[in-house]
Amino acid sequence: AVALTLTLGACGSSTKTADEAPAEGGSTAGALIGVTMPTKSSARWIADGDNLKSALEGQGYKVDLQYAENDIPTQVNQIENQITQGAKLLIVASVDGTAITTQLQEAKDNGIGVIAYDRLIRNSPNVDYYATFDNYKVGVDQATSLLVGLGLKNEDGTDKADAPAGPLNIEVFAGSPDDNNATFFFDGAMETLKPYLDKGTLKIGSGESDFETAATLRWDPATAQKRMEDLLTKTYSSGQKVQGVLSPYDGLSIGILSALKSNGYGTAGQPYPIVTGQDAEVPSVKSIIADEQYSTIYKDTRELAEVTIAMAQAMLDGGTPETNNTTDYDNGDKVVPAYLLQPEIVNKGNYEQLLVEGGYYTDDQLK
Ligand code: BGC
Repeated sequence: AVALTLTLGACGSSTKTADEAPAEGGSTAGALIGVTMPTKSSARWIADGDNLKSALEGQGYKVDLQYAENDIPTQVNQIENQITQGAKLLIVASVDGTAITTQLQEAKDNGIGVIAYDRLIRNSPNVDYYATFDNYKVGVDQATSLLVGLGLKNEDGTDKADAPAGPLNIEVFAGSPDDNNATFFFDGAMETLKPYLDKGTLKIGSGESDFETAATLRWDPATAQKRMEDLLTKTYSSGQKVQGVLSPYDGLSIGILSALKSNGYGTAGQPYPIVTGQDAEVPSVKSIIADEQYSTIYKDTRELAEVTIAMAQAMLDGGTPETNNTTDYDNGDKVVPAYLLQPEIVNKGNYEQLLVEGGYYTDDQLK
């Protein structure tokens, strides 16, 4: 389990400090906060939910925490229930960022604040704030680490002197089309790969380079596994090999690696291609240690919880939360003021320092 060290005020967003719980009898004392998360099928969301709940309860709030198992109507019902129960604030990591416009209107009509958590909620003027990571940078980092793994870049991001001329074969995967983050990840990554694709150092063997074709509905690992199998059959059955796979999420990476394994990759003679990921989930960190997956992107969900809680407190106190981005996240109705945290590339060389020494995991969890 991930422990949350709450250092509210670190992002300076509230006038209150961590040990100042809402005043007894104050208008928001003991207020109910509705937290909705997309799914328990991925460990990161479990950690997010746990972190938020325990920290908010520690501040004296009541918390209703719900998981939707990636089902849109379920999440819609959960949000409606929270409004009915009298929630004063909603923190939402949406399944489909376009599907809760009606519920957010209801929230607005009832004076309930809304924080979009990690994923932007689209097509609604009633999203007050957005707490997330720099999602474009996540994509840039994923592609950069793919380039490092392929021997085209040094770890410091500079071009490698003795880089292979290529063409090196890669395939690209994108996340769920209804998740606003997915295009940010993909755009950041493709922009970073573009010069190498233009020069011909890299080649998308299958030619499947657009977001729609590369997308993976609901981030489903089995869907990615199936697509990788199809790509291997279609493009790589007559001797060509795939040398790199851009994967935007650890769950997909695991599916992609399974497809590669059943097609003869992962042996001394035919090593796995460079496969990226995201979230530093335990099975993927173990896979990195075992020289299967190449890298992942670490987004410290403890920090995201901290930022969100500071936002929540400021909103409930009638203050203005601190944001550091008021330009990039246009949800179709308005630009939502956001607080962006920085992601970090994790590979075999630095997981110990970032994840273990950083207190995210213990060494035992990774054995
Ligand atoms: C999150 C990623 C996660 C993905 C799949 C995205 O919205 O930002 O961290 O890998 O959803 O759960």
